[in-house]
Amino acid sequence: MRYTLIECGIKCPKCDNPVPLNGPWETVHCDHCQADILIPHDYWTDIFADILEEINKGELEAGEGRSSTIWGTFNTTLMYGNQIPYCLDCGTDFTADALTPDAGTLKCTECGETSVVSPSPEWLREEYPQVKLFVNTALLSSDDPNPEGVSGPIVFTCPQCGSALKVDGEDRLVPCEYCNVKVYLPDGLWLRLHPAKSKTRWFVVFEG
Ligand SMILES: [Zn+2]
Ligand SMILES: [Zn+2]
Ligand SMILES: [Zn+2]
Repeated sequence: MRYTLIECGIKCPKCDNPVPLNGPWETVHCDHCQADILIPHDYWTDIFADILEEINKGELEAGEGRSSTIWGTFNTTLMYGNQIPYCLDCGTDFTADALTPDAGTLKCTECGETSVVSPSPEWLREEYPQVKLFVNTALLSSDDPNPEGVSGPIVFTCPQCGSALKVDGEDRLVPCEYCNVKVYLPDGLWLRLHPAKSKTRWFVVFEG
């Protein structure tokens, strides 16, 4: 088996802000301009093929990594390394025999934290059977409900009548119950409610 550590992000094609890809996502939501960006399958198969080729040629020793900028479908910043998956909390390596597609979650033998193990998705297996599984790509769907966001009600006053608006973070256009004007929430408040996703490291396990 071969292993890679990956840290990947693109620039949003609409607003140019950084958007992390914390797994082989098929779509990603830009937290800055709210665009939904489609990531074509070829994008991932190309990246995995390049990385695997380099590892197979022996150009990357275990523990060694590279970073690159790719100008293609997206403006991509990619960091990858020849690295067996490890616990992101304490840095302890997982053992090779623990890395099986049906593991579900892996418990770190040192700190007890769990990492998610997921089999390669169907579309990827068809195109690229060497990719066996992923570690730490828990957020495979991009509609993760905003874990670090502000919770509880927020008071924002209607700029027209000064009444308190109910802001729940679901809709950026909030109707005022008193004067019926629709208030578009300013960037600062909206970003507090929907903080940008941060980049995390994830791993790919290749067969053979
Ligand atoms: Zn954007
Ligand atoms: Zn640990
Ligand atoms: Zn009002």
